[in-house]
Amino acid sequence: MKLNKYSFGIGDRFARQGLAQLMAFQKSLENNLLITPVWNKSYREHKTVHSIPQSVRNEADEAVKVSGWEHEYRVDADHINLTNVEDFIESSDFFTIDVAEYINSKVEEEEIEQFIKINSKFIGEIEIPSIPEPFYIGRDFLWHIGEKFLGAIMEAAKIYQYIKVKKGPSFIAEVSMDEVEEPQTPVELFMILSGLAQYGVEIQTIAPKFTGRFNKGVDYVGDVKTFQKEFEEDLLVIDYAIREFNLPANLKLSVHSGSDKFSIYESIHNTIKKYDKGVHVKTAGTTWLEELAGLALSGRQGLDLAKEIYSKALVRYDELTGPYATVINIRRENLPQPKEVNRWDSIKFSQTLRHDQNNPNYNPEFRQLLHVAYKIAAESGDQFISLVNDNKDIIGPLVTENILNKHIDPIFSGKKIV
Ligand SMILES: [Zn+2]
Repeated sequence: MKLNKYSFGIGDRFARQGLAQLMAFQKSLENNLLITPVWNKSYREHKTVHSIPQSVRNEADEAVKVSGWEHEYRVDADHINLTNVEDFIESSDFFTIDVAEYINSKVEEEEIEQFIKINSKFIGEIEIPSIPEPFYIGRDFLWHIGEKFLGAIMEAAKIYQYIKVKKGPSFIAEVSMDEVEEPQTPVELFMILSGLAQYGVEIQTIAPKFTGRFNKGVDYVGDVKTFQKEFEEDLLVIDYAIREFNLPANLKLSVHSGSDKFSIYESIHNTIKKYDKGVHVKTAGTTWLEELAGLALSGRQGLDLAKEIYSKALVRYDELTGPYATVINIRRENLPQPKEVNRWDSIKFSQTLRHDQNNPNYNPEFRQLLHVAYKIAAESGDQFISLVNDNKDIIGPLVTENILNKHIDPIFSGKKIV
């Protein structure tokens, strides 16, 4: 099973917008750009809204059937590990094997010695085509890599083999190490790929931690030039590693964007075009924020519920933000008080929430808190879902437009965000 050159990961917490999401890919195809939709939902999200992995498969299949989409599409078991992969085996054909927590885990010294022996041919300077400065690799550096990453590599191999035994060859594997504080450098990525090849993990995408902060639902925080250099070197390192370690020829970078990293989209676009490479960009479930904006715009009942969700989120701040501590950054003093929010009309609420940096009402703190407040909507059960269903004519176009104009177009076509 092979993943298309361009693919884009979409999340849908409540599994109601599959068709509206797929419309963005349809419209892109009308402009001769084939991007594979990958519906992703993590174990954490399933737990929070009490859904099961099969629901994502059903949503994807249904959207594809109704729309007549004739191309590849995938269902991603996002950020799984050995304790929860079993639940995803049947319904998924894309597995994001998350081994971030095994970085720096203890491994036998013999394993490290073996790793150094296999990679000893790289000791010295290695020149990677198109990267101006050579990398210097010493024995100490290889030892450091072994200590730091071999535990994660061996864990990835365990999970990969588990999936392979159950599914045979019909799945796509990704390894992710992005949910950590410290970015992996291009030369570290090169050695990680060597280790994955050594342990027989056939990945088609790899998601390193890039430099900068990737807070959920808001723009990139960091130096765009540094990101661009790192992204470009990662891409070239992968190209070299494919040949050196006999990895799948379509192996590509996966950017776990956390959604809305508008200021680095141009760098990603220019770099993949420069070298004619593919990319996978995964987004978080910001489709749920479009649902919320749509509810606010729908008038009284929807707006009241949206306000109620915000008020409750503020009270339960620690509980909601806790699981996302490393991937959000909320300055609490910039959060509006419920008393104020309750006076807002539809336009003010939706503009405060939606990510338009040119709109003076936009408030990234408000947006981030509501992004992690989907648990409250889930608890309201029927009330939320039935309002979303009743207002699908308002919500659907917002969902489609968000994915197409703000993400797919700038990343894959190089169009500016309008
Ligand atoms: Zn991730």
